[in-house]
Amino acid sequence: YAAKESHGLRLYDSELDRNSPQRLALIADLRRAVERGELTVAYQPKVDPRTGRVVGAEALARWHHPEQGPIPPDVFIPLAEHSGLVWPLTLHVLDRALRSRAEWARAGHDLHVAVNLSPNSLLDAALPDLVARLLEATGNPARALTLEITESTILTDPAGSLATLERLHALGVEISIDDFGTGYSSLGRLRELPLHEVKIDKSFVQRVAADHRDRAVVRSAVQLGHALDLRVVAEGVEDADTYAYLAAEGCDVVQGYLLSRPLPAEEFTAWLHIHSRN
Ligand code: C2E
Ligand code: CA
Ligand code: CA
Ligand code: CA
Repeated sequence: YAAKESHGLRLYDSELDRNSPQRLALIADLRRAVERGELTVAYQPKVDPRTGRVVGAEALARWHHPEQGPIPPDVFIPLAEHSGLVWPLTLHVLDRALRSRAEWARAGHDLHVAVNLSPNSLLDAALPDLVARLLEATGNPARALTLEITESTILTDPAGSLATLERLHALGVEISIDDFGTGYSSLGRLRELPLHEVKIDKSFVQRVAADHRDRAVVRSAVQLGHALDLRVVAEGVEDADTYAYLAAEGCDVVQGYLLSRPLPAEEFTAWLHIHSRN
């Protein structure tokens, strides 16, 4: 595991430091924050590059530690996974995201909202029923929710994840493969899953302007996605040249700092009003 830096605090997610006092203290703080519903959600717009229209938003969990300030999700999501907190965290993010999405719809913006699922939450057999209940409680149609999963999740338990994905698919929820290109899933396996979308990982997207090999990877990912009848999303779009390249390659949706950083709910709503004027 790599070292993560966060405001001078170094956290090593390794066997050796698993019981370090700092790590245990941070887990205790995270548990309290999750129990008290203190985690927030930031939203990053997803845009159709051909029309410039906003089609959806990705929900990203945020934790502002009372003393240490913002802790990146790359740090606290793994902590949550290793300490049994990922399920309540996922439910909290799902609930927040669906409430926000219902507000956007009431304001006239028919967007989808995407929520990230870590392996443990996808593999929980209770997930589909819970999603169905949350959709109903928040007044959202199932098609308004996209669940982003990674290839490693599917590899952890192919049979278990297939069963859950099929139940989610039956509800009408859409499934996206996140970080596409970084895993090892075979084409055969992808074809067997009820998927709607692939997201090309930002590590390829970000070097498109500079590296012809990354251009080749992105081009084939777009073609492969379309050959499998999937929507193709590129994440990590930071400049206009990359945006233009992706639009020309036929990418369906783009997401990245060029359009907006992930924004707190109220700021996202304001951004949406400004960017949906026709
Ligand atoms: P991800 O799902 O791949 O999310 C995309 C990450 O890229 C986000 O980082 C986002 O802020 C960042 N990003 C977006 N546009 C750009 C860009 O143009 N350039 C660059 N360099 N980065 C960009 P963030 O918010 O720090 O999240 C990191 C990871 O933490 C996520 O990666 C996801 O795996 C995980 N995560 C975040 N929220 C949740 C959650 O609610 N549940 C779960 N299970 N995982 C989450
Ligand atoms: Ca994601
Ligand atoms: Ca991603
Ligand atoms: Ca990622």
